[in-house]
Amino acid sequence: MLSLRAAARHNGALRPSLQLFRRSTRHIQTATVTDADIARLAAKPLHPLTLADLCKHGRPPLSQQALLNSANFTLEILPSRLAHRIQSLRALPYIVVANPNVNKIHGNYVHSLSTLLPYAEKKIETLEDEIKFTEVMADLVQTHSNTIAILARGFLEARKYITKDEITRFLDEHLRARIGTRLVAEQHIALHFSSQPHRELADNPHDDAPPSYIGVIDTALKPADIIHSCEHMVGEICELKYGVRPTITIIGDPDATIAHIPMHIEYILTELLKNSFRAVIENGQEKEPIEITIAPAPAAEDAHAMHEKLQKQRATNEEVGVPVGVVSNYDQGSVDHASGSNGPAKAHSANIRPLDKQTPGVTIRIRDRGGGISPENHAKLWEYGFTTFNEDEIMDKVSGGRGGVDALDAISGGAGGGSSLAGLGYGLPLGRAYAEYFGGGIAVQSLWGWGTDVYLSLRGVGSVVD
Ligand code: ADP
Ligand code: MG
Repeated sequence: MLSLRAAARHNGALRPSLQLFRRSTRHIQTATVTDADIARLAAKPLHPLTLADLCKHGRPPLSQQALLNSANFTLEILPSRLAHRIQSLRALPYIVVANPNVNKIHGNYVHSLSTLLPYAEKKIETLEDEIKFTEVMADLVQTHSNTIAILARGFLEARKYITKDEITRFLDEHLRARIGTRLVAEQHIALHFSSQPHRELADNPHDDAPPSYIGVIDTALKPADIIHSCEHMVGEICELKYGVRPTITIIGDPDATIAHIPMHIEYILTELLKNSFRAVIENGQEKEPIEITIAPAPAAEDAHAMHEKLQKQRATNEEVGVPVGVVSNYDQGSVDHASGSNGPAKAHSANIRPLDKQTPGVTIRIRDRGGGISPENHAKLWEYGFTTFNEDEIMDKVSGGRGGVDALDAISGGAGGGSSLAGLGYGLPLGRAYAEYFGGGIAVQSLWGWGTDVYLSLRGVGSVVD
């Protein structure tokens, strides 16, 4: 079983590898990106990303040939993805694109495309080229690392010129596409470092990756471990800022494991715990532990059968008898939401079989006594930028007040990371985007005046390799 320390080390392992490369990214070759390049690449059909794609090169350590295949696969799908993002940014109202923050993101995409174009018409056939290409991937991941905070600031500044619905539609597509693009790049970087040709490198940050890992995927991920590390991190923020530290209890099946991406689960759980910790503090209930139940999901076949039943019920407008969202996203599969097609992807799971038949997925229920969510606010939960966060109010509750806080301070704290408990209003919609990316979901049930239940369903991603 994977120790927490090993998991944490591995989760952070990409960062040193990026730094390793950052020194040399100055030498990355670029090519001028023309409008014709963008139009040509964006016209290509997008490859819907599946987890089978990410695992298809085999378990590490990859041979030289498998590593070259991974590089070529990555190269095949990234340029058109970037071109699509550039087009969709350019389709925003002019005054919005002209905002310096939104424009910065546009510039980042053009830069990344310019680093890929030199490879676009050829195959990567030597290790030398593969190393250069991995440097390009590291540059891509690095360049786009601060996107959320920058876009949040941009849309906050430009909100007079664009409706909330338009913002949510754009961000939902953009940020979901970003999840896939980063994943492909990060997967190649991880496979690079754990490949036969490169793993002996003296300062290889991936040399201690546990055997359950295939690149950035952990085939034996234990949600309870991640919950504990998130509890610690969010507890720390609460202690430092407010002098109180809410607690959690885990019940159900804490030993359940699934195959999933630790970075994604960590993001989602951090956001959900931040919300619950803040709610119990604001509600004066920080002594009431937050109850987290881990329940293994039914076998995949049962889930599919249940999903089909749900679809039929929807078609006939019948009431749906299970918490909305818990199994409602099975049709999303491993679709890239940026694929441009609005319909759900089909047949994504045809060649993916559950890695562990006993636990093809888990549902995690986070139950807090934080007072719940008013019906009025409940309707806005999935809007990017919706927040009721007011740090002064929390300070008043726990320690009798403090000076004012600039709203933009909270934003520069970043999404997901940062030392702030809340403020961007991106936690729930982006958390849901991560959960849905591989067929899970998030549903929120509020008992207004008492507390909130959040259901996070995760579908084990399965694998085609052994
Ligand atoms: P943020 O936390 O930055 O405000 P989120 O998207 O995470 O953004 O949450 C949006 C809003 O939903 C919060 O500001 C809060 O009003 C409400 N909310 C979310 N989770 C809870 C919860 N567990 N209890 C009470 N309110 C919640
Ligand atoms: Mg939040």
